[in-house]
Amino acid sequence: MHDFSDELAHLASQSLLRTRRVVDGPQGPLLMVEGRQMLSFCSNDYLGLARHPEIVAAGIAGLQQYGMGAGASALISGHSTAHEKLEEELARFVGLPAALSFSSGYMANLGVIGALVGTGDTVVVDRLAHASLIDGARLSGASLKVFPHNDVARLAQVLARCPVGRRLVVTDAVFSMDGDLAPLAELAAVCAQHDAWLLVDDAHGLGVLGPHGGGSLAQAEVRSPHVLCMGTLGKAAGVAGAFVAGEASLIAWITQRARTYMFTTAHPPALAVATSASLALMARDDWRRERLRELAAQLRQGLAGLPWALLPSSTAIQPLIVGDNAAARALAAALRDRGIWVPAICPPTVPKGSARLRISLSAVHTPEQVDQLTAALQSLAEEGAHA
Ligand SMILES: *Cc1c(COP(=O)(O)O)cnc(C)c1O
Repeated sequence: MHDFSDELAHLASQSLLRTRRVVDGPQGPLLMVEGRQMLSFCSNDYLGLARHPEIVAAGIAGLQQYGMGAGASALISGHSTAHEKLEEELARFVGLPAALSFSSGYMANLGVIGALVGTGDTVVVDRLAHASLIDGARLSGASLKVFPHNDVARLAQVLARCPVGRRLVVTDAVFSMDGDLAPLAELAAVCAQHDAWLLVDDAHGLGVLGPHGGGSLAQAEVRSPHVLCMGTLGKAAGVAGAFVAGEASLIAWITQRARTYMFTTAHPPALAVATSASLALMARDDWRRERLRELAAQLRQGLAGLPWALLPSSTAIQPLIVGDNAAARALAAALRDRGIWVPAICPPTVPKGSARLRISLSAVHTPEQVDQLTAALQSLAEEGAHA
């Protein structure tokens, strides 16, 4: 029987074998990792809410009210008053007419794309779009076209050549490995011209960008009946799950047709209660977004002039480009020896030759902790760790 040991050995020889480290205790800048305390710049808990006492208390109250499991899919009997309330709040949070919640962002993207397009239709994807968008496009059966990263003119050409049928354009709002922003207003305009829907994946913008954290579309002031927003709740919101928001008729159709919504158990009602608490905190605590911007500016200043370049990014995601896979892993290992955890991201997650450290910041990092990271990278640069 084939047991994949050769393939695993091959991955190991290419420095491409993925490993998991076991974290003990709650999320935060300081993590207990296999018996050792590490300063972490790994997490997508951008606002520092994953362990927030108000969210934890709401989750506990939700468990006491509803018990643990939802018991069935939402369309059978799994849709609770907590889910219903959360969907209204999610729509209001992003300023769109209606919202539908999913168990994860991956499932939302698969379900939404498959509900909107199928055989005979076209889905056009930014080259750097998240894997879940690519997988959703492939699974939908629609013809899959790719446009160069953030290239609105090329997207217009692709749309102009589309055959008859429905058209859907999909993109990240904040690119997860680069931290840069999609030109949402221009994309929405081109989509309107070519009668295409635009699905914006705001996994990294929700809670972080826009007035009161309303997300990338709110920041770009894009409002169009052709635009749908997918937001994840496991990142800045610090909980779990995801949602799609848009025109009421589109959301009603997605409720009828998204297979990852229909054929899965609804997520626990207590999670919906905790998420409602998180939305209230995200809207209220503007200081978290301000702190994040201050820390990003501090990091960028501290890393200027090093042999590795930071990509231009105004978000919590600050990628430091190393280039070579083994060099990126060596740099991450050298930081780990100093008690600092930053993930090295290698192909195929990012293009060949652009292996990087993906530094992610959280509003609850202290300036001293950011100084610790910049000082460690400066001393590694002086030691020639990049050579
Ligand atoms: C994390 C992420 C997802 C998946 O969301 P989950 O809720 O973690 O499944 C989708 N899109 C992007 C851009 C992401 O970064």
